[in-house]
Amino acid sequence: MNKPVLDCKHISFSYHTLSGETKALKDISFSIFPGEFVSIVGPSGCGKSTLLSLISGLEKPQSGEISLHLEDKKSIGYMLQQDHLFEWRTIKDNVLLGPEINHTLTKEKENYALSLLEEYGLFQFVNKKPSELSGGMRQRAALIRTMVMSPSLLLLDEPFSALDFQTRLSVSSDIGAIIKKSNITAILITHDLAEAISLSDRIIVLSKRPGEVKKEIKIKLSKTDETALSARSAPEFNDYFNLLWKEISDEYE
Ligand code: ADP
Ligand code: MG
Repeated sequence: MNKPVLDCKHISFSYHTLSGETKALKDISFSIFPGEFVSIVGPSGCGKSTLLSLISGLEKPQSGEISLHLEDKKSIGYMLQQDHLFEWRTIKDNVLLGPEINHTLTKEKENYALSLLEEYGLFQFVNKKPSELSGGMRQRAALIRTMVMSPSLLLLDEPFSALDFQTRLSVSSDIGAIIKKSNITAILITHDLAEAISLSDRIIVLSKRPGEVKKEIKIKLSKTDETALSARSAPEFNDYFNLLWKEISDEYE
């Protein structure tokens, strides 16, 4: 097998505040391989966002080791529930923000950004402000802003939670397709088990706080095409759903 992009070995982490210690994660170990799409599911407050903060280097684990094996100059992309688009900038200027800050904005980068905007139905909005876009379009623009930086690892922290159900289905499907097509390694945190099954190669289930790895489930669906709809109607889908549902509901008892 290929060398992992990310290796987490026996990670533990606690928050220390005036009111005391909160153990967030306990003895977490897993690896992520190049091109994999892995979802992390687990009860609210079990340490999922903390885990992404550790992977991105915003926090340091108290024990254990995180090793990243990324290609030169390539970075980690981070996408959150809020799109954090700047309201006073046009969509084009928003998606080009990263290269502009890094002083790496070239005509080539700009053309790449425009081609992504075109491919994902946002071309007619390039000169519009974010307030003129729907929630789903804004999330697509936020993903394109991240993709323009050519990340080799993408961290997605419940990026679809603020969208209504219908929009969530189509945006998560599009975003899954964009990520798979560009062969980026991705870690998605989600509450939505069906979303996790339809998008992932593997799902890691965390226990309630302090989060521990409870189970890892490889997902293999007989899909007719790469759409999320096809994934959701695959014959294996319900079995995976029931298995995950059982693992998660055990954590709420
Ligand atoms: P999840 O993303 O799974 O909902 P989090 O990683 O956000 O969980 O949080 C895990 C636990 O750590 C929660 O109990 C939360 O209240 C606590 N926590 C998160 N951030 C902080 C912080 N900055 N200071 C203190 N406690 C925190
Ligand atoms: Mg969270």
